[in-house]
Amino acid sequence: MARKYNFYAGPSTLPVAVLNELEEEIADYRGQGLSMIETSHRSKMYEKVHNEAISLLRELLAVPEDREILFLGGGATLQFSMVPMNFLGNQKSCDMVVSGAWAKKALSDAQKLGTVKVLFDGAEGHYTSLPDPADVRPHEDAAYLHITSNETIGGLQWKEFPDTGDVPLVADMSSDIAGRRVPMEKFDLVYAGAQKNLGPAGVTVVIMKKDMLDKARNDLPVYLSYATHVEKNSLHNTPPVFSIYAMQKVLAWLKANGGIEAAEKRNEEKAGLIYQAMESSGGFYVSPVERAYRSTMNVVFRLPTEELETLFVQEAEAAGMLGLKGHRSVGGVRASLYNAVPLEGAQTLAEFMKDFAAKNG
Ligand code: PMP
Repeated sequence: MARKYNFYAGPSTLPVAVLNELEEEIADYRGQGLSMIETSHRSKMYEKVHNEAISLLRELLAVPEDREILFLGGGATLQFSMVPMNFLGNQKSCDMVVSGAWAKKALSDAQKLGTVKVLFDGAEGHYTSLPDPADVRPHEDAAYLHITSNETIGGLQWKEFPDTGDVPLVADMSSDIAGRRVPMEKFDLVYAGAQKNLGPAGVTVVIMKKDMLDKARNDLPVYLSYATHVEKNSLHNTPPVFSIYAMQKVLAWLKANGGIEAAEKRNEEKAGLIYQAMESSGGFYVSPVERAYRSTMNVVFRLPTEELETLFVQEAEAAGMLGLKGHRSVGGVRASLYNAVPLEGAQTLAEFMKDFAAKNG
């Protein structure tokens, strides 16, 4: 088996140990005579995995007991509308920080469902900076404040979070959940698609403070109401069983490898190697992102010309490094360095960057 270094932004690389375990179990789950993805989602066999995934998330992310952990379908994209649908009724408005492409999508759906007040919009600076959390003060009557903890396309990451007092703080953590330690007690609702740090695509994790349900509308279609999923332990309808099954393995792998603190250290080291290669290139590689907000998950950079960027991506691919092309909306190069990207992947890329700059600079 010749595994390549995979820098895709999501779906993205998974731990080889997890893939091997899935392969071993796929036709006959631990002598049960059937696969985990062939059994009823009401069976004991599945239920155990489902609940284990919940308790591993709670343990690893230090999720307080007064939070529910839900597994939903529809991607993080569904949460762009589910959050305002549930909490923006009764002529309320919400506050949002518009930090890049993903925050803009969340904004656009929220605007269809209610009033949004934008507290910060990074448009003028082409989404290369974030506000100082101390300056982010939500309106007292806001239903919630929504932020995007890591902008997957722009490569920006909040390093500290605003204090919102009594106003609930909601975060799209799709691209950095479980990639670093985060004070979960600060957040009233967090959502994240699994396909970056947690597992394959198909399941969206929602972590919600229980008292949020008191503020939610109760006249929504059944799937769109958080209350449904809380009441039924995310088993109201058939959950994405394969994704949850694989996620449970990724979480067990994370735990066996030192938990989130160790993952954070590894991620800082990997990202540090790429930023260092950039810094020492004499301006050949340039980060568009303000230093204080550079992401440890999605490292983006530009080369002197678009032709060189194309050549960089091509030659990297020929050398066994996949997924380095920047998002089509912004161009450039992007290396996504999620939890399962090995240190050697980042080392290989950093070396490649040095050689490429020496040849083409
Ligand atoms: N938010 C962020 C920060 C993302 O990176 C993505 C996907 N790349 C999404 C939301 C949308 O997620 P999904 O494709 O799971 O709907």
